[in-house]
This record gives sequence, C-alpha cells and structure tokens, in this order.
Amino acid sequence: MKPLLRIHTISLLSIVSCFFGCAEQKEGETKPLNVLYIMADDLAYQAISAYGSPISKLAPTPNLDRIAANGARMDAVYCTNSICGPSRSSILTGKFSHLNGFYKNVDGGDFDGSQMTFPKIFQANGYETAVIGKWHLGTEPTGFDYSKVLINWGGQGTYFNPQFCINGQDTVVERTRHSTQVIEDDCIDWLTQRDSEKPFMLLYQFKAPHRDWRPDSMYHDLFTDFDFPLPENFNDDYAGRPAAAENMMEIENHLNRRDMKQEAPLGLSRRDSMRWLAYGDKGQFWTPHDSLQGEALKYWKYQTYIKDYLRCVAGVDRAIGRVLDYLEETGLDENTLVVYTSDQGFYLGEHGWFDKRWMYEESFKMPFLISCPDQIAPSSISDELVMNIDFAPTLLDFAGLPVPDEMQGKSFKNALVENQSSSRDAVYYHYYEYPIWHKVQPHYGIRTDRYKLIHFYYSMDEWELYDIQNDPEEMHNIFEEADESLIADLRFKLDSLQVMYGDTASLEEMRLMTDTVITRVYNEPMKVTK
Ligand code: CA
Repeated sequence: MKPLLRIHTISLLSIVSCFFGCAEQKEGETKPLNVLYIMADDLAYQAISAYGSPISKLAPTPNLDRIAANGARMDAVYCTNSICGPSRSSILTGKFSHLNGFYKNVDGGDFDGSQMTFPKIFQANGYETAVIGKWHLGTEPTGFDYSKVLINWGGQGTYFNPQFCINGQDTVVERTRHSTQVIEDDCIDWLTQRDSEKPFMLLYQFKAPHRDWRPDSMYHDLFTDFDFPLPENFNDDYAGRPAAAENMMEIENHLNRRDMKQEAPLGLSRRDSMRWLAYGDKGQFWTPHDSLQGEALKYWKYQTYIKDYLRCVAGVDRAIGRVLDYLEETGLDENTLVVYTSDQGFYLGEHGWFDKRWMYEESFKMPFLISCPDQIAPSSISDELVMNIDFAPTLLDFAGLPVPDEMQGKSFKNALVENQSSSRDAVYYHYYEYPIWHKVQPHYGIRTDRYKLIHFYYSMDEWELYDIQNDPEEMHNIFEEADESLIADLRFKLDSLQVMYGDTASLEEMRLMTDTVITRVYNEPMKVTK
C-alpha cells in the first residue's frame, strides 16, 4: 500500500480518503513527499553563516547554508520553553509544556509517549519513520519504525563512547567514533536500508554542540590562528534587570574546569576527580595559571568556549552535507522536504553568557531552514512569527496529512509557499526550571514584531519591556518609562494568549510547578549487549 500523497495541491477529499491507507501511485504521478527533519542541540543561529553573524563569517557552515539556498531561511521562529526536553516535547506534540506535561529537564519526570505526536501520524499514513541520535525524553520513542537514541549521561549522551538504545531494547556503546560521526553513519545506513517502496519521515538529531563542547579530533586544528570577536554586550552589567543579575551562566564566573578541558590531577578518586572538574559551576574562582587573571582570564575562557563550540558545529555541518549529498545522488532531493533547526538558541557570549533558558532573543530564537522542491522558492527569507509548536502541523500540512485539533500550533506552510502571512501578531513563552542549572527565574511573556514583554514571577515580581527595533541587544528595560497605552496593549495580548493556549494557572500554581519534583522513571540501562 502506498499513500496517495502529492507534493502539489491536495483536495480535502484526498486528505480524508488517504488518512489510513492509500492507493497505489500511478506512473507519471508526483512522488510522495519524504521528510528529513534535522535538529542539532543548542546550535545558535549566530553560528550559521546563512544568518550572517560576525562569528559565522569566520566559521562558515556551507552545508547548512545549502538548505537555505535551496529553500527558506526563517528569521522569526521562537521556542516556547528554551531547554532541551521541553522544546522537543512541544515539537513532537504541537503543544505547550503545560499541556504535554514535560516542562522541566530536571525533576520533571519523563515524556508521556502515549500522546499524539506528528511521527505517529506519518507512521499511520504509510510512512516509514525513524529517529536517530539525541532524544532526551526519557521514555522509549513511540511512533517510529526504527529508533537508535542516545541514553547515557541522563539521556544527553556523550561525545565519546556514547551509549545508544536501539528500538527500546538493545543497548550499544560506540567506542571508536565521535557521537556526530556515529549519528551521521547511522542516518545514511538507515536511508540506504529502508523500505524504498514507502515514503520516509526521519528525525536526524545531533548531540552536538551541547555543553561540554568536545569536538572530533579532526577539528582540533580549526581556528588556532585567530581569535573570535567579542559580542558588543559581552560585558553586560545587567543594570535594570534583577532577574538577569541573579544568573549563574556567565562565561567569566560559571564555566568549570571540565568546560575548559582541564585535566584533573592524577591520583584523585573518581568522585574527587569529578568534583575537581565541576569546580567553577557555582562561581568558585579558578585559573589555569596564576598569571591569567581578570579581563585576560575572561577573554581566554570565551575563546576556549567559542572555538570548541564552533568545532562541534563544523562536525554537524559535515554530517548534514553528507545526507544532502546522499539525497542528491539518489534523486531523493526531488521529493524530500528538508528542515534544519535546533531545540533552542544559545548564548555565544551575548550578555556575557553561555547556555539558554531566557526569553531574550539569542536563546528564544531558533534557527530554522527549510527546503521543499517546487514549493519553496530558493533563497527565500521569511519573517513570519512562528513557534516550535507549529512545526508538527506544518510538516503534516506539507505532506498533505491531517492535523489533529488538539495540536495548538498552526501550519506556516502558506507563509512559505503562497507568501501569505498569518494573522498571528505575537508569540508566547513560558519557562519553569529553577534554580538548576543556571538560576534563571521562571518567566512568561510575549514577543510581537517589535516589542517583548516578560514577567519574572517566581521569587520576584519584575516586568521587563524591550523595544527590539531600537534595542536589539535587549540592554534597556523600558517597562517603567514606556507609554501606559503600549503596556496595556501588550498586557492585553499576553492575557489573550494565555487564555487561548490554556496557560491560566495562578502564579502560586505556576510556582508549584517549578517546585514539584517528579522522579524520572527512566534510568540508563546498565546492560550493554554489544
Ligand atoms: Ca538543547
């Protein structure tokens, strides 16, 4: 059985008729659309040369740029909760964290895999489905004909000696290749061996460039003969922003010895060695040499961090190039939609930070590149306001599959194909995890095309307002001085979105969500079968 799916216009009748099981494809008809969804972990848009930032000019990503050249670069795609597991849950379900239940990485339980997710709909409609690489949701993947996902280090996986679980059963440790290389090879192997009679929907997901930024040795010599420029607000003093001032994610003060690739002294027990390497997390002072202090120490930490991060990105770019080459060599590029994104953005020194979580632009905004032959014009740029809950409806829409009513996101296909903007004038955000890991106060807020309103509500009651057009670096909180009518208008929009998305709990209930500890059922399988 083959699905009656077409790349081009599909009538409602045909959608209904092919919902479960479809007719043979006739000769001369358009081939079904395959979906290749590529996602890296913590890969900021500032590190992608298609986005044109100063850093990426020195560390280009030619293969990621191929996707943008073949299709569209989207400039206003936002995460709904900027950490790994919660973003992934929202992407799969098309729902905000408070409805899909996975709203924290730590003490937030595991993903409820019995929920409706977009891979399940592809699978039910005749697609061969797979997820390869990072999963990070605890429970076994559901909705996939094949899964091989990282499970060690709390589901994060490691760069070296990564442990994977295949189809929820066999556990393997890859001892010779870097994590990115393993995932790259597995992706090509699966594409080669899949049932070529069926269309495919593949999630190709990297661990890189997540902390602690350990690149493949083939990239160790990259960027050794120059330094990267510092972001303009590298020395932010967080004036007028009490929540930001409380943070523990500063390059100057919170990178530990492990991040900086220091080696623990010989002779320490494993526990003491781990403690030695983690030193610095809580702001403890350390320096590799007594002569390296102050500004020079901060500069050295930044260069060490950014170079290792971008070396990891180089590996991801290579791995993406390989699958794009494969699609071209096999002709699959003619009927495959390709998405590239990251589970959220990341700070590459902006505000003096690494990590994510905040609703400030660098971690809130997700890179998003998408190509679809004959449908999206090459080298397009879109400023459509999009959230990660929109990904599932959009992929289903492109494939001509039905979008369940329970998904809160909306397809943005028409913005790309028909150049039709939606009526959305703001996106909504809500972050919960505190104080681990970086002491980022829980907050919610909205962003319009010009303004951003944020409420930090956990152990403070602070509102922030930014005019992003005049203050793109979000250094000046204008909440106290802004026009009352502007604030009233934004508060009205915020309230309306909270009602629309069902996020109407009281502040007390929201604080309780942060405080509630939900033990993980999932544990790393200890038995290694290969
Ligand atoms: Ca992440």
